[in-house]
Amino acid sequence: MNKRLIRSNPFLQEWDTPFATPPFDKIYLSHYKPAIKKAIRSASAEIKAITDNHEPPDFRNTIEALEKSGETIGKITPVLFNLNSAETSGELQAMTRDISPLLTRFSNDITLNLKLFRRIRKVFETRENSGLNTEQTMLVEKKYRSFILGGAGLKGKEKKRFREISEELATLALKFDENVLEETNSFELHLTDKNDLDGLPDNAVEMAAMEASVRKKKGWIFTLHFPSYIPFMQYSDKRDLRGKMHRAYTSRGFRGNKADNRNNIIRIVNLKLELARLLGFDNFAGMTLGDRMADTQSKVEKFLQELYEASKPAAIRDFEKIRKSACENGLNGSLERWDWAYYSEKLKKEQYEIDDEILRPYFSLESTEKAIFDLASSLYGIRFTRNTSLPVYNQEVKTFEVYDSDDTFLALLYVDYHPRPGKSGGAWMTSFRDQRNYEGSDIRPLISIVGNFTRPTDTRPSLLSFNELTTFLHEFGHALHGMMSKCTFESLSGTNVSRDFVELPSQFMENFAYEKRWLDTWAVHYQTGENIPDEIIKKIKEASTFNEGYSCFRQLGFAFLDMAWYTILNPVEKNVEDFETEVSVKTELFPAIDGTCMSASFGHIFGGGYAAGYYGYKWAEVLDADAFSYFTETGIFNKETATSFRKNILEKGGTDKPVNLYVRFRGKEPSLDAFLKRSGLI
Ligand SMILES: [Zn+2]
Repeated sequence: MNKRLIRSNPFLQEWDTPFATPPFDKIYLSHYKPAIKKAIRSASAEIKAITDNHEPPDFRNTIEALEKSGETIGKITPVLFNLNSAETSGELQAMTRDISPLLTRFSNDITLNLKLFRRIRKVFETRENSGLNTEQTMLVEKKYRSFILGGAGLKGKEKKRFREISEELATLALKFDENVLEETNSFELHLTDKNDLDGLPDNAVEMAAMEASVRKKKGWIFTLHFPSYIPFMQYSDKRDLRGKMHRAYTSRGFRGNKADNRNNIIRIVNLKLELARLLGFDNFAGMTLGDRMADTQSKVEKFLQELYEASKPAAIRDFEKIRKSACENGLNGSLERWDWAYYSEKLKKEQYEIDDEILRPYFSLESTEKAIFDLASSLYGIRFTRNTSLPVYNQEVKTFEVYDSDDTFLALLYVDYHPRPGKSGGAWMTSFRDQRNYEGSDIRPLISIVGNFTRPTDTRPSLLSFNELTTFLHEFGHALHGMMSKCTFESLSGTNVSRDFVELPSQFMENFAYEKRWLDTWAVHYQTGENIPDEIIKKIKEASTFNEGYSCFRQLGFAFLDMAWYTILNPVEKNVEDFETEVSVKTELFPAIDGTCMSASFGHIFGGGYAAGYYGYKWAEVLDADAFSYFTETGIFNKETATSFRKNILEKGGTDKPVNLYVRFRGKEPSLDAFLKRSGLI
């Protein structure tokens, strides 16, 4: 690349913007690839300097040097990937697909660099007698672990086998998901008789009519995609049709056709077992849990079992409550799975009579944003100042400078609230730069919150649903974790913590949505200025525990199934349905249905990354409930408690074991009590 191109490529220059933010206005599509290529070349040279070093390996010349390498890559990739999620186009997607293999190859080159691995192993083996502090030790362990799990410690035949297995597993995971998608798409419930629509809300019917017209058919079409499936199961008065939909949903990947997932499951769990054995672990769970807060199989199993016993009576109570209500509403015979959502919804409506349209007027986006910033101010003393002059990737994005109570600069926060054609669904927190502190120079982070919140219209401002309010709080909790970080190394800073710990700061914040003491300070009707009525707050809180016993039990069923598949010690020889039935019997309250199987479409654990990790959902809830109960005990705006949460959790990232951080904040390990109480299980 010639000098002129380098000079005009913003990725290859110092960013002289205020706070060194990405100069979005100067970045063009053509800049990414040449910059990435150059950045990879310089990073490779940095790695070579580490392995060529003749001095014996130590923390500084190996681990720290590795941590600091590839700075330019770390400047480009967040921009590329964040924009590809929040502001993409066909060209940017193609560019991402083009660049991803270069990055994968580069990271494989590092993991499989034997000279580098030997140095890292040496530092790892001597870490306890090298005078390292806790944070440095954590970094050594994290780096070593990523090399080990990447197969760096294997030789010859084993290494070859490791690569074969990894590649086959990647293909199988894709195949598994493709099958589920194909099975989801291949089913349609085509209705032509108006009477079959009884009970369904207007917008569900409208959507079904649109779907039919897209498919050039008369009448209405319902599908297994959530926006169609869920309302149908909740509202359709036609029991036989609910049954048909349910069977279709729960038999995906289990119908003996070419999209059947049973063989894939057996192959996946057996290969993962073989992989774990190659790397020296007993089983796959042992391999993945190592750096979690629940770091052993027995800890996870003990946790699930305790929660199981605690929630069982409430689950049975919920089941009986719905069964009784169903009978009073004309159900004959036993309560089946396809009756659950339908009769639950009826009873819920009867008891609480609140819906989003009643709540929205109290949660205008403008006042919600201010309320959430003010909440952070009252807890942690930080303040937010709008900056309207920084470059942004879309004119809708707002930026705020965030300052600590002593006026030192903490972070820059981007917020990007509304859906656009180039934005993925859902909401997330991300960063353009993580915090780090080398040689006393504290590099502050650039944090971003992206959402798909309701847009304003010509006649109303943006008014959030209750779910959007909790989502905002959730992502803001992640953002605080990123913004308040006070760590040395980027790999351990902010939200770079273990998976079953990362949702603590985010779910913790959600608790405030149910607190009258907080809502009363800001939630007023956007037109009348009237305070949110106490009656509504009470109902929000009560409705939040509706059927919680049952839903906890059901989640536990999935978690037990996940752990069962990934704690096998010998290859599975049984068929999938027998394996599943045996595990599920303890959490099954409904009569069994032939021809259905959960595992066959359990994408979280066979397609996605939740293998031996599904328990994490409940784990995080227990943790955030326990943490928040400390606030309810001491006062939800208590400065001392908040400071302790900040100093011990939010500032510390992954610089120590999660359990140590937690105990320092809470004075004890988390217990189930607060969670059980909050969910109404006791
Ligand atoms: Zn989250």
